[in-house]
Amino acid sequence: MDNCIFCKIVRGEIPSRKVYEDDLVYAFHDINPVAPVHFMLIPKEHVDSMAQLGQEHEAVMGHIMVLAHQLADSLGSTEGFRTIVNTGRIGRQDVMHLHVHVIGGPAVLPPMLVRV
Ligand code: 5GP
Ligand code: ZN
Repeated sequence: MDNCIFCKIVRGEIPSRKVYEDDLVYAFHDINPVAPVHFMLIPKEHVDSMAQLGQEHEAVMGHIMVLAHQLADSLGSTEGFRTIVNTGRIGRQDVMHLHVHVIGGPAVLPPMLVRV
């Protein structure tokens, strides 16, 4: 996608602090981290959000799930972490290229959500 900032990051047109890359996925530190460990895993092929996923995405999404704990471990978040996938307007997704946040670090995270 020409104007997608995460596609531009995958193509190297916007700089990022890379955590990991292979044929299917790209992982990079969030520019505005909310915890000492905060990176995102994205499919290299553009998908707007989880709401657009189909069976053809099962391999890449499974790959992302397996990589999440391996990369969190490698960055020192060895006792757990939180994964967040904001989706669409209700989920307050800001960047419309599917991304899995991985958030952790040495300290226990705050409660997941405030009650709505
Ligand atoms: P969302 O709210 O869509 O789930 O999260 C988007 C995330 O992307 C935010 O946490 C924001 O800090 C991060 N972000 C937005 N633009 C950039 C960028 O250009 N580079 C990096 N590394 N992160 C970005
Ligand atoms: Zn994209």
